[in-house]
Amino acid sequence: MFDAMLESIKAGTVTTAIEKSLNELSARKTAADLGCRSHYVGASDVPGCIRQTVYGKIEPPASHPLETLLDFARGHLTEDMIAPAWANLGWDFKRQVEAVYDNGLLQENDPGYLPLRAHIDFVFFDPARKRLLVKEMKSPRLMPDSPRDSYLEQLQLQMGLLQHEYHGWTVEGVVVMVSLATGQIEYSDIVQYNPAAYDAAVEKARKIWGYVLNYRQGLAIAPPASPSPLCGFCNAIHNCPKFQGVDFGFLDDFVAEIICLQEKTKLNMAAIDDHKNYLKAIHDEVGNFVAGGRLFRKLTRNYKRMNEQRLNEFLAGHCLSIQDFSDPAPVEFFDMVKKVKKAA
Ligand code: SF4
Repeated sequence: MFDAMLESIKAGTVTTAIEKSLNELSARKTAADLGCRSHYVGASDVPGCIRQTVYGKIEPPASHPLETLLDFARGHLTEDMIAPAWANLGWDFKRQVEAVYDNGLLQENDPGYLPLRAHIDFVFFDPARKRLLVKEMKSPRLMPDSPRDSYLEQLQLQMGLLQHEYHGWTVEGVVVMVSLATGQIEYSDIVQYNPAAYDAAVEKARKIWGYVLNYRQGLAIAPPASPSPLCGFCNAIHNCPKFQGVDFGFLDDFVAEIICLQEKTKLNMAAIDDHKNYLKAIHDEVGNFVAGGRLFRKLTRNYKRMNEQRLNEFLAGHCLSIQDFSDPAPVEFFDMVKKVKKAA
C-alpha cells in the first residue's frame, strides 16, 4: 500500500483517490446517521429552493466534488471540537437527536402522510424546570453578520418537532456559527418557539414531499425554482428553468451587492494606502518605531530579475529571440464587465 501511495503522489492521481475515498466515507456516514434521505424530508431540506431539494431526492448525485466533501467534513469536525468543551463545562446535552413529525393515525402510504424528521445537532436539557435548548451548529465558509433566514427556518422546524414531543416543556433555540478558519464563535440571540413559523415550515415540507410523490407516480409536475446565491452549488442547475438563456435578471440585486463590495474595497485600499504613507513619512524621519503592537521598519530584499535585453542580444547572435522559447499558456479567469446598452 505504501508503494501504491507513493505512485499515486508521483502520478498526480492522489487528489482523485482522496475524493473517491471521501465520497465512500460520506455515503457510509450519511446512511448510518441519517438513513436514506430520499425516503423522508429532513429539517435541513426545508429552507431554500424546493426544486433543488426535490431533485436531490429523486435524482441524488452519485458523488460530490471534493470541495463539497470538505465542507461536510468541516461541519462534522466543528461539532466534534466544540462538543467536548460543553461537556467539560458540565452542560447536559445529547447529540444527533431525532425528532419525528407526528402523523396522528395516518400510516405510511396513507394519503397525507408526511415523512418529516429532524436530526438535531445538539439538545441541552434542564429536566428539573422542563426546559430544553436546541443548538444548531453552522460552520459557514464566510461568517454572516447575523444568522441567515434559512438557519432560523430550520431551527423553528426542529423546535416545533421537539415541542410536540415534549408537551409542557419550554423549547428554545440558538444558532452557533463557528469559523474554523478564524477561530470565531458567534451565538445568535436565543429564539423562542414560534408555532406560525413551524406551521409554515411543515407546509413547505408537505409541498416538497408532494412533488417527490408526483414524480414517483410518473406525473411530471415541475417544482418551483427559487434562485439564490447557492445556485452555483446546485446539482439541478443544468436544466433549471431559471438559467435558460443568458440574461439572469433575478441576480441583479446580488450583482449590485458585489459592485457595492468592490467599491468599498477600493475605498478601503485607498484609506490603507493613506495610512501607510503617513506612517512611512514618520519612519523616514525617525527610523524604526513601535505602535499599536506593531514594529515599523524598512527592509531591503534582493530579488534576481532576468535581464531580457541581454538575453535577447545573446540569442540574436544565434538567430533566435525569447519569443522562440515561449509556449502558449492559456489562463482562465472570471471576468465581470459593464454591459454597454446598444442605442435604439
Ligand atoms: S439552480 Fe437555483 S433555482 Fe434552480 S433548482 Fe437549483 S437552487 Fe433552485
